[in-house]
Amino acid sequence: KIVILRLGHRPERDKRITTHVGLTARALGAEGMLLASNDKGIKNAIEDVAERWGGDFYVENDVNWKSEIEKWKEEGGKVCHLSMYGINLPDAAGEIKLCDKLMIVVGAEKVPTEIYNLADWNVAIGNQPHSEVAAVALTMDRIAQEEPLKREFGNAELTIVPMERGKRVINNVKEE
Ligand code: SAM
Repeated sequence: KIVILRLGHRPERDKRITTHVGLTARALGAEGMLLASNDKGIKNAIEDVAERWGGDFYVENDVNWKSEIEKWKEEGGKVCHLSMYGINLPDAAGEIKLCDKLMIVVGAEKVPTEIYNLADWNVAIGNQPHSEVAAVALTMDRIAQEEPLKREFGNAELTIVPMERGKRVINNVKEE
């Protein structure tokens, strides 16, 4: 079970990247995203995709990051904060992989220093600055217990039939 905690989202400039963090996490098997800012548009956009493409990914808008982390840890969950200053992912993935209740924390701008102490792991996806979307994708791929790209999404309205050329999308609602 994986949940994303998105910190520092600025509605005026991070809409697209936060939406992509959520969609990427969903596609790779997270169950939901907690947004520590108030932007209902993100929740609507992601849940709209989830409704059409299946599964039951959720977004919780405007959470208090500190109490979410504390609650998660009280329930026995572990916290992995993604930061380019952390331990490099190849050196930490083996241990993180063993965890069955994981919160992945991603920032936007500078994250509060306290996060570094609250996290069980501060993990770098290489010690170079890049993107929160890439950081989430690589982490979820490297810690997955089963092939994350082969998962199936139940109750989908739309399903893609993979093919070498062209596009085929089944509309399960229409074709029922
Ligand atoms: N300058 C910010 C800082 O000092 O933390 C980083 C901003 S970065 C655009 C936004 C988020 O992307 C970070 O909070 C982190 O979660 C993630 N990120 C970017 N590069 C990363 C890396 N190499 N390893 C892990 N996470 C990374």
